[in-house]
Amino acid sequence: MSRRLHDARRYWGSSIPQTSKSTLTRHTLTTTVDYLVIGAGPTGLGAAQRLAEAGADFRLLERQPVPGGLAASFGHDGFTWDVGGHVIFSHYPAYDAMLAAVIDADDWVHHPRRAYVHCAGAWVPYPFQNHLDALPAAAARRCRDGLAALVAAGIAPDRSSFDAYIRTTFGDGIAELFMQPYNRKVWSHPLERMSTQWLGERVAPPSSDESRPARSPKTWGPNSEFRFPCRGGTGAIWRSLASRLPPSRLEFGAAVVRVRAAERVAETADGRRFRYRHLLSTMPLTHLVRQCGFAGLSDLAGKLAHAAVDVIGIGFEGAPPAPIGEHSWMYFPDHDCPFYRATVFSNYSDHNAPPGCWSLLLEVSHSAHRPRDTHRLAADCLDACRRLGLAGDAVRSSWHYRAEHGYPVPTLDRDHILDAARGELEPLGIFSRGRFGAWKYEVGNMDHSYMQGREVVERWLLGSAETTIDHPALVNGR
Ligand SMILES: Cc1cc2nc3c(=O)[nH]c(=O)nc-3n(C[C@H](O)[C@H](O)[C@H](O)COP(=O)(O)OP(=O)(O)OC[C@H]3O[C@@H](n4cnc5c(N)ncnc54)[C@H](O)[C@@H]3O)c2cc1C
Repeated sequence: MSRRLHDARRYWGSSIPQTSKSTLTRHTLTTTVDYLVIGAGPTGLGAAQRLAEAGADFRLLERQPVPGGLAASFGHDGFTWDVGGHVIFSHYPAYDAMLAAVIDADDWVHHPRRAYVHCAGAWVPYPFQNHLDALPAAAARRCRDGLAALVAAGIAPDRSSFDAYIRTTFGDGIAELFMQPYNRKVWSHPLERMSTQWLGERVAPPSSDESRPARSPKTWGPNSEFRFPCRGGTGAIWRSLASRLPPSRLEFGAAVVRVRAAERVAETADGRRFRYRHLLSTMPLTHLVRQCGFAGLSDLAGKLAHAAVDVIGIGFEGAPPAPIGEHSWMYFPDHDCPFYRATVFSNYSDHNAPPGCWSLLLEVSHSAHRPRDTHRLAADCLDACRRLGLAGDAVRSSWHYRAEHGYPVPTLDRDHILDAARGELEPLGIFSRGRFGAWKYEVGNMDHSYMQGREVVERWLLGSAETTIDHPALVNGR
């Protein structure tokens, strides 16, 4: 048994699904199925659940020993960690129904959002642009002057790039104090090369008293209130869903290494072959086209941009320091602080930390545009926590996880690349979906991913249209 599987079983016990691998002979060279799913993250599990409901002939292959993908959770020294604090958003009744089926109503903790931006030495409630009064007077004036200058010049939001949009929507003050430095940290990518069609519900407009139409700042956005599994982190959702699916259909520790597209065969690292009629892949699209051996498409897909995320969990003894005692999460635009976001993860559930302890979950992004020496990252993060007054005295435990694919960056040329990839793959029965399968950040959350999996199955089974991947604005406007 691998170390990760052993650790996972120790922490999550029977909620780790049994792999069906032991029931297969290693010498079974080719297995034939109607539907093959690669990956047991939210997308793959959404598809598998829908296929199981329909009684379809399918197999799901996951290279890791546990389900959940980026939405998995990990236990370490009595602390529970997510790959960055996951908050549940939902745009779909079917997603709500799944959540209700896999976690009992009493096993959720409900929270109001208490999110802040640390800026100019102050804690500014999120959304920043709606709470300029919380800034020191000079900084607030700079932000208001920037907004007033836009109005005086009659400037309308320019959507030609994310950077242009920030400047023409929020003005120079908000742009320079928060929007630009923060977004450069998260995306690790030049904002001038990013598009704006993903913005929708992700970025709040400034308040009317700052010159633009307002929505109620406290309740702005889809996560003004959120809930979290009482035990086992976000991954509890996906472990529970996986454990309700037919075990003979799921294989963990089964990495697909090659897809013979013309033959409709996928090969695993241990030499087995799976012949399929329809394939759903949730691995990064760039990996899929390489595995298919499509040279031209690989070169094109190589232009898709992403940011890696290092997630660092620090478990402290005692209680969180007063200023952040009740905070949910905090944003850090300053360039001398390595992380862009910190979550007081023990505030999400008492069970996320052992008795008498609390926990901070820190996220650091990097890419070729913004390389980082990750060797000293955990130490640098702890130093920054101490400098900012976020740290407790005694560190009980620390945890470090690298997500090589963290954020799919919405670049200006992205949709052209994605259209070309779908045009080549889908006639061959290959459907690439999910956060990095579809590479669309605007539909890259858990609810979107789960539904991308279900919708592609309904397209196969019923011929229905896929809404999430094709109409993100419609879905997010719900
Ligand atoms: C830092 C961070 C914070 C986030 N916060 C939130 C949040 O607050 N709310 C929210 O809703 N969402 C959040 N998300 C997004 C959420 O994690 C994703 O929506 C979701 O995990 C995507 O599911 P997926 O199945 O498409 O992909 P993944 O979760 O990446 O799953 C893909 C699976 O495929 C497997 N795989 C890959 N290659 C192979 C192969 N060759 N063979 C077999 N298996 C393979 C992987 O091991 C993985 O298990 C966050 C993500 C990150 C990185």
